[in-house]
Amino acid sequence: MRPLPLAAALAVLVAFVAGLAAAQVPNDPRPPVPTGTITTPAPSETEGEGLPPVPTTPAPPPAVEPEISWRDSRAIGLPYAGRLVRGVQFPAAGPHLFTWDPLLHRSPNRSWRRWGTDGLVRVTLRVVRAYAAAHPGAPPVAIGDLSRPRGGYFGPKHASHQNGLDVDVYYPRKDRLERPPKTAVQVDRRLAQALVDGFVAAGAGKVFVGPNVGLHGPRGVVHELAHHDNHLHARFPRWRA
Ligand SMILES: [Zn+2]
Repeated sequence: MRPLPLAAALAVLVAFVAGLAAAQVPNDPRPPVPTGTITTPAPSETEGEGLPPVPTTPAPPPAVEPEISWRDSRAIGLPYAGRLVRGVQFPAAGPHLFTWDPLLHRSPNRSWRRWGTDGLVRVTLRVVRAYAAAHPGAPPVAIGDLSRPRGGYFGPKHASHQNGLDVDVYYPRKDRLERPPKTAVQVDRRLAQALVDGFVAAGAGKVFVGPNVGLHGPRGVVHELAHHDNHLHARFPRWRA
């Protein structure tokens, strides 16, 4: 094919460009593509990508693990005479758990009652996750008090819970109601034992259980104690939590 003379080639090019421009110039009433309405995944679904955390809403339990501000915590002193430094707040609710305020008798527990060492918060979430996986039909676990934000004397209900290493966990109910049992008779003993076993396996130094529930565990770790017929109290050693 014979090449076009330069002038002819330019003329063709100019005509082509003009045609393109003409095709685009007409005032098109259509708005630009609304990119803002394109569905983007919620920040919680893209954890670790530097997106801002989702504001936590207490209920209903979120489908994903809640955001937690992890810090390197320190438990000072003893569980019944101590304090908590750089505590971590336990979430108000989670995929397999809710929190319970034992004084106001409602969920979620007030935020100042849910502080522990990072180790305690992490291990408690891990125990609940493993329990839920092993018992897919079980109702969500009710988590009670941990410690105050800076530990110290908690209040009339607790002698301990002072240095971020103690957590109360209510036994599951036979009737599956999402509130603590009132008496030992209401406790689903099989599921309650599974929770005790979970905390023992996770390295709890002490697990206090009620004398009327019929729960057991290794001597020296699981102890029967009055006022624990509706919840277990797990205490972790400092090296663990
Ligand atoms: Zn307790």
